[in-house]
Amino acid sequence: MKFRKRIIAGNWKMNKTVSEAVELSAAIRHELAECNDVDVVLCPPFTAIAAVAESLEGTTISYGAQNMHWESSGAFTGEISPFMLRGLYCHYVILGHSERRTYFGETDEIVNRKAQAALAATLRPIVCVGETLEQRESGDHIGVVSAQVHASLAGISGADLKKTVIAYEPVWAIGTGLTASPEQAQEMHACIRKEIAVLCSQEAADAVRIQYGGSMKPSNAAELLEQPDIDGGLIGGASLEARSFVELVKIARERN
Ligand code: PEP
Repeated sequence: MKFRKRIIAGNWKMNKTVSEAVELSAAIRHELAECNDVDVVLCPPFTAIAAVAESLEGTTISYGAQNMHWESSGAFTGEISPFMLRGLYCHYVILGHSERRTYFGETDEIVNRKAQAALAATLRPIVCVGETLEQRESGDHIGVVSAQVHASLAGISGADLKKTVIAYEPVWAIGTGLTASPEQAQEMHACIRKEIAVLCSQEAADAVRIQYGGSMKPSNAAELLEQPDIDGGLIGGASLEARSFVELVKIARERN
């Protein structure tokens, strides 16, 4: 099996003022400043990115945004472009989170445009996919997620896929306290990896990192991260507190 560096990313969503964000990143920095064996990424709201970046200077911790527009500039009131994020030296951008898909009408086609634009701006996209409870209960989960992977990542080269992170986030597990079982998550991660092989190549499939997201916390992370196709976590609620986020990174480190 190919070595894939684990990646733990915190999605702070619409939480934290600038001062609260700096306080949280400083507390994480205090514990993880020299973490080289796991990629650690903080995704604060847009308003706090610059301040968090400053507080992370001199560390190996990366940071990114939670969304962006695909155009580089123009009449798109309220939007932020890939180049603006690069101007803040962001490394990553979360795209197609289920909250964006549900509340803001983002489709796979929009996510695909954004992913292509992010890569063109040398940002690493974290592309989210996942099925609803209804889709899982009707047995459609594999088909739904495979279709999302295909459509969201269409036209992206192997070299760019290797820089892309996929987050498998079952919608029914996000913010609900329900987690996919390690077996359910592994089954889907293996399917996603197979889809990448079909879409592009086995080499890209072996290299792409696939995170699990959906109520991951210190009490359930170990068994998820022990699965062969789970390369990390996209963390919502448990990333809003330094102690639980740091603990998750430590659990990932132990499983390297
Ligand atoms: C998320 O929003 O990406 C997420 C996984 O949230 P939570 O960890 O709170 O379920």
